[in-house]
Amino acid sequence: MATWLAKMEQMILLCVLSTCLSAVHPQNFLLSPKWVPAGHREREEHGDVTAMDKIIKTNEFHATRIIDGTTTLREGDIAVSTGRRSRICFARSCLWSKSVDGHVYIAYTLSAEYSDIDTKLIKKGMDNIEDGTCIRFVPQTHQRDYLDIQPKSGCWSYLGSRGGRQTLSLQNPDCMQVGVITHEFMHALGFVHEQSRFDRDNYVTIMWPNVWRDRLRNFEKFKTESLDLPYDYGSIMHFGKYAYSMDGEPTIIPKSNRNIKLGQASSLSHIDKLKINRLYQCTVKDD
Ligand SMILES: [Zn+2]
Repeated sequence: MATWLAKMEQMILLCVLSTCLSAVHPQNFLLSPKWVPAGHREREEHGDVTAMDKIIKTNEFHATRIIDGTTTLREGDIAVSTGRRSRICFARSCLWSKSVDGHVYIAYTLSAEYSDIDTKLIKKGMDNIEDGTCIRFVPQTHQRDYLDIQPKSGCWSYLGSRGGRQTLSLQNPDCMQVGVITHEFMHALGFVHEQSRFDRDNYVTIMWPNVWRDRLRNFEKFKTESLDLPYDYGSIMHFGKYAYSMDGEPTIIPKSNRNIKLGQASSLSHIDKLKINRLYQCTVKDD
């Protein structure tokens, strides 16, 4: 009898436990290593994953919206310091300074934790930015302002040059993909996501009901400068069609043609390059 009672007690306890577990908010399951954003696996199989899709996947696992006590992530991967009065950085403010020879030299340090292969990938990302623009990445020697590239938690960067040392996180191995690296460098140059352009509603429809409730804020618009360049569906800074999808349904639909591909997997679009050249007034041929 006593054993039977003990068994019953055990069963009741188990039931209570399982009720508790099933009541846990679904977002807690992000902690499960099996979790991937809705539809991500299928798109990965079709080779249809954008740089931002990879960033979202990594950051939702490893970097929550709060990186540490004073830094939060905006739009999924833009670091914002709450403790410090941050300069508002859109378009022409907080640019890296230009040298008299017409180049913009961005000094950087690389964490010793990166392997040779990682270093090569990071350099490839730098090449992507330098190619056809006046930007040049140089190892830091005496420069006061520089990027401190570290394998912290997640893939993220501050927006533009903020003065002094600034961290750019490329977690290893999750962020070690050329497209992801290039995307984060674009933030460091001062660019926000393409679909947060102030005029984006003329070009895309945000499917609000399909967006994961907790991430609605990642689709805000900002007062950005378009640099007189057309809206760029294929920008490496564009969210993919299924970014932060709650149920695998699209969250961003192009207005003119639903089949236009959004975002970019590994390189800058032609317009991305023009953007760099206009923002930094590079004197390279701008065609
Ligand atoms: Zn980003």
